[in-house]
Amino acid sequence: MSTEENYNELLSKVQQNLEVVLERISVAADKSNRSAKDITLVGVTKYVGIPESRSLLQAGCKVLGESRPQQLWQKNSDSELSNASWHLIGHLQRNKVERTLPAVDLIHGVDSLRLLEAINQSAAKQGVTSKILLEVNCSGDEAKHGFHQSVILPLFEDMDRYNNIEIKGLMTMAAREGGSRVARSNFASLRELRDELREKLSNSNLIPILSMGMSGDFEEAILEGSTMVRVGSALWNGIRD
Ligand SMILES: *Cc1c(COP(=O)(O)O)cnc(C)c1O
Repeated sequence: MSTEENYNELLSKVQQNLEVVLERISVAADKSNRSAKDITLVGVTKYVGIPESRSLLQAGCKVLGESRPQQLWQKNSDSELSNASWHLIGHLQRNKVERTLPAVDLIHGVDSLRLLEAINQSAAKQGVTSKILLEVNCSGDEAKHGFHQSVILPLFEDMDRYNNIEIKGLMTMAAREGGSRVARSNFASLRELRDELREKLSNSNLIPILSMGMSGDFEEAILEGSTMVRVGSALWNGIRD
């Protein structure tokens, strides 16, 4: 088979997988009385290389996510993949902030004050405003990154300190154990936290984004109000490995 035939076969598989995922999103959105248009799919490319990532973009998934900064830099410097809107969904180390800012539209996993400070400084130096999500540990799992729920309100009240950061919303990961029931209650906690912040800060436009839900649990997340799902494995069925 020629390289072109291989690529076309890959593209058609990715298109099929993407269709399945979009349909699942649409069904869950209906069930939660929302429009699928209000839910952004972040296509996670961390399992695959450049050709596969290109095929996902070509299939129509315009927002792509990587969990490692170096991989994100590498893909964002590809002539085609630079046209995607890149989100960093994983942990960001402070020494990688400077190079990451120009490559991304949104950073999902901001999980410490030191990181917030580093992003703010770097953004000021680069003359930009960085859009970020605060990662919240809703599962109580000690091994997970993320702020404790109780520090989010004081953090919002103190946002004047961070002039070059715009907090677009909150992000969480469900507990590994406990199945869909526990996942759903973790997602509900994040939504309740958002509602509480909006009420206490008297601003119903605050926190437009709730980033929650992955291949195994995005329907539950959508039912609990997710506006952004980060889906990897389900898009690469029959492709990776
Ligand atoms: C890998 C990853 C995802 C995607 O997970 P899948 O189960 O493959 O869909 C979502 N969010 C984060 C933070 C990830 O690291």
